Amino acid sequence: MMDTNVKTMSGSYHRMFIVLLLTVLVVGGFIPMSHVNAAQLRAGVAKVDITDTTAGPVNNRLYVRALLLNAGETTAVIISVDAVAIGEIGHISNNYLGIVRSQIENELQIKPGNVLINASHCHGVVCSDVDRRTFQAVKEASLNMVPVNVGAGIRYEERIMENRRHRLKNGQEADVRHAYSLVPDEEVAGVGPVDPEIGIFRLDRKDGRTLAVVYNFAIHPIQGVPGGGNTADITGFASQVIEDNLGEGTIALFLQGCAGDINPVWYKDVNHPRDAEPLGNMLGLSTLRALREIDSKSDVRFKVINEVLALPRADNAQRILSLEAEQERLLQSLRGTSINLKTFIPLVVKYNISSEYPSYYSHAYMHDIGRGKDGLEKLDSENRRNMSQYIQNIHIMEQLTRNQTNLALLSKHQAGFIAAGKGTIDVELLGLRIGEFVLLTFPGELSVQIGLNIKNMSPHEFTFVAGYTNGYIYYAPTAEQLRNVGRAQEDSDCLLAPEWQKLYEEKMIALLRKL
Ligand SMILES: [Zn+2]
Repeated sequence: MMDTNVKTMSGSYHRMFIVLLLTVLVVGGFIPMSHVNAAQLRAGVAKVDITDTTAGPVNNRLYVRALLLNAGETTAVIISVDAVAIGEIGHISNNYLGIVRSQIENELQIKPGNVLINASHCHGVVCSDVDRRTFQAVKEASLNMVPVNVGAGIRYEERIMENRRHRLKNGQEADVRHAYSLVPDEEVAGVGPVDPEIGIFRLDRKDGRTLAVVYNFAIHPIQGVPGGGNTADITGFASQVIEDNLGEGTIALFLQGCAGDINPVWYKDVNHPRDAEPLGNMLGLSTLRALREIDSKSDVRFKVINEVLALPRADNAQRILSLEAEQERLLQSLRGTSINLKTFIPLVVKYNISSEYPSYYSHAYMHDIGRGKDGLEKLDSENRRNMSQYIQNIHIMEQLTRNQTNLALLSKHQAGFIAAGKGTIDVELLGLRIGEFVLLTFPGELSVQIGLNIKNMSPHEFTFVAGYTNGYIYYAPTAEQLRNVGRAQEDSDCLLAPEWQKLYEEKMIALLRKL
């Protein structure tokens, strides 16, 4: 009994001595930290300009930002690109992901599946050698690896975005796009949800200075800047604000979230030039404010899981036929009127300024009544009938343009469905845990509700979802939204059948349990 106690005590004294000795050696700089603990998390960052300077005036630069992480045997790369998508649409080619990954594998021995590339979804123009510059950023990051402490947190920003899908009184949904007119106000019954969370992952050097901030938020960065010009848009301004305020060398990597149906506010403003900068500044400042409340600590939990899931493809042949039939019905419902645009507009003004005596002064109407005449009254009712029909024609025209635009998207993807020759599409999904920060990815534009669902179901406090990652398969709306096919961009610019949502969410929950 006695012997055991003595042994235990001497054992703990022995361990204390070793810890003390190591602390002295490390703090004194005699041995590098990485040799003490193989699992110490280390990170390096870099950013490289990818602006296409041949594509016209530049408002603010576009960047690729790379964060390299290593602990023991595990290495991962998080890359944020100021571009619309990783392949398929925009200026990044379909072989970009493969080229960048194989170069990283060949030169830095990092597994392709551990490389995460997220597109901010800004609509700026990137240079043609964006693949080379992406690798350059990763390479530079690999040359500057330092031990880091990490932390995660959340802050809310709800002033800069809105859901772009409107629930209509007729049970359908319509969306806010520049491609066509909005539905009349009277038809709108409600709007969809937004996700105000900024998910934040912070990496500090051991001396406390911030090395990198990874932040995740859901918004389409498509506001543009006054007068046009190439721009990294809202999220480019936000990253710049964060980097400017945190000092030399700090990199802010934006990871686009589930922004499929999330627009910037005032997206269709016709009275002021649309400007991404104030919106980006708000996002950046809210992220900075959150950083003050996030502590970083040594945390060696680090895991990367990469899986492929086959999702069902949509066959929209019937939907296309019924929309085409509706187009024909709408065309047939147009009716001729005596007035045209030139006469319609002054009539609208007159009949709204003076609804009782629109066509002339009140005394003329009174004289008419005194003489038992109704000429002015008849003229007014004829004008009102013509204006009402003219307005109806305009609404039919607007509906035709909405249908036509969405029909074109449906037809394009239906051709792809037939050409693919199979009913499923493989998507790459990545799950990442670093300390408390947990991230899931998807190669398309997830509707915001999907992100909200996954966050709700996750067992981890700081769970975030990044769409637009490692590929691009267009929009991924909810099964509910897919009942509306042909009426809004997300449900028409889409390859997936409604059953996809359940499969994806179940897969994500399983992945979260493994992280
Ligand atoms: Zn989009």
